[in-house]
Amino acid sequence: MIMYEFAKSENEIIHINEAIKEKKYHCIECKRELIPCQGEIREYHFKHKRESNCNKESYLHKTAKNIIYEKIKNNQNFVIEYPFIGEIKKFNLKDFDIEIEKKDHEFIPDLNLKKENKKIYIEINVTHKIEQNKINSKIPIIEINIKDQNDLKILKSGIWKYSKKPTNFYNCQFQIQQKKYLRQKYLNKFENHFLQIKEEESKDYIILKGRKHKKPKKLITSTII
Ligand SMILES: [Zn+2]
Repeated sequence: MIMYEFAKSENEIIHINEAIKEKKYHCIECKRELIPCQGEIREYHFKHKRESNCNKESYLHKTAKNIIYEKIKNNQNFVIEYPFIGEIKKFNLKDFDIEIEKKDHEFIPDLNLKKENKKIYIEINVTHKIEQNKINSKIPIIEINIKDQNDLKILKSGIWKYSKKPTNFYNCQFQIQQKKYLRQKYLNKFENHFLQIKEEESKDYIILKGRKHKKPKKLITSTII
C-alpha cells in the first residue's frame, strides 16, 4: 500500500502532520481523493480513498517540484547551498519569478526561474537524470536529487543542504568564477615561483633554497600553462 506523507490541500501542499480530518485532500500524482490516517499503530499517512495505481516515483517528482514552486511563487525563502572554494555558500531563490513545466525555447524545464536577465532551471531527479542537451545549452541548472519522502521534508523546510543531500550544478556563474579563481591562484603561485627563480638565477644555474641547480633548458616554456 502506498503511504504518502504529502497531499494537496486547497491551495498548497501539506504534510500529514498538518492535516485535519474534516478537510479534503487530493493526491499530488493521480489527483484522486486522499484520507488522512492519523492512528496510533501506523505512522501518519494519507491513503487513497479508492484503490489507485498511483506511481510513487512520479509522486516524489511532482511533490518536490510543487513544493519548490509554491515557496518561490509565494516569495518564501528557498535556499540552495552550494560549494565555493572550500566553503558552503547559500543562495536564496525567493525573489525569482517562477514557472512550472512551461516551454522555454526547445526545453521544458521542471522549473524555470527568472530575475532581471538571469535565468536558472531547476530539475528534479528521481529516476531520470538531466539530458545532455540541456547541459550543453549553457543555461545555469540546479539538479536536485530526490530519493524519498524525507527529502521532500527537507525541501519543505526551505533550505536544501549541500552537505547532506546531493545537488548537481551545471553552467552556474559560481563555477565559472571558481574556475577563474583557481586558475588565477595557480598563475600567482607560478609567477611568485618564477620571480624567485629569476632573482637568483645566473646564466647556468638557479639557486633555490640555498642550493645550486643546473638550469634546465626551456625552463620558461615547459612550466607555463
Ligand atoms: Zn495518487
